[in-house]
Amino acid sequence: MAEPANPLRGARFVLAAHEIRQLPTDAGAEVAFAGASNAGKSSALNALVGHAALARTSKTPGRTQQIVVFELPDGHRLIDLPGYGYAKVPEALREHWRVAIDAYLHERRSLRGLVLIADLRHALKPYDRQMLRFCADIELPCVVLLSKADKLSRAQALTAQRKVQGEMDKAHWNARTILFSAPAGTGVEEARAAAMDLLL
Ligand code: GDP
Repeated sequence: MAEPANPLRGARFVLAAHEIRQLPTDAGAEVAFAGASNAGKSSALNALVGHAALARTSKTPGRTQQIVVFELPDGHRLIDLPGYGYAKVPEALREHWRVAIDAYLHERRSLRGLVLIADLRHALKPYDRQMLRFCADIELPCVVLLSKADKLSRAQALTAQRKVQGEMDKAHWNARTILFSAPAGTGVEEARAAAMDLLL
């Protein structure tokens, strides 16, 4: 069977911003990607757009703590938010991003939804919970990609997913989870469809 066409294909790097005001004009629609540092956010983005090095290209040293903007051929944007929880980031920079991301999520009118990437084996981290609570508060749709699913057996992965989904449902966070693995391709199509659903 032929693979369905990738609706996120053709994404290109637009800019990397240190301040919200450096972002493109707040018009149209965009989806933001967030997650703890090392959760697999870049790998997930690359798998979704079908471009092995798109997110990495923009992750040259110094750019790692920036908001990176990609644009799809149809004009929709994918926003790569700085990974959180990286021990080597100085406290002042962490505070800068805490405030900036908070402002971005609150104020960005073109933001249609959040894709949160969380390592299935360590989900959820405190800051993941904070993001989910926050999305629920502002009624921003959110999809959680439970990454590195290939590191567990299928049965273990499903058990871990049920646990995370159960916690989220209990908290009324109203987000759904997708088992994901960039190298194995698990959940990639479902995640693409979910990202497109947020954008359209
Ligand atoms: P980021 O810091 O969240 O952008 O994480 P990266 O995408 O750079 O991934 C961090 C590390 O985890 C890298 O060594 C990746 O190769 C690895 N990784 C990311 N996603 C997966 C996955 O789904 N499965 C496995 N086995 N490794 C992954």
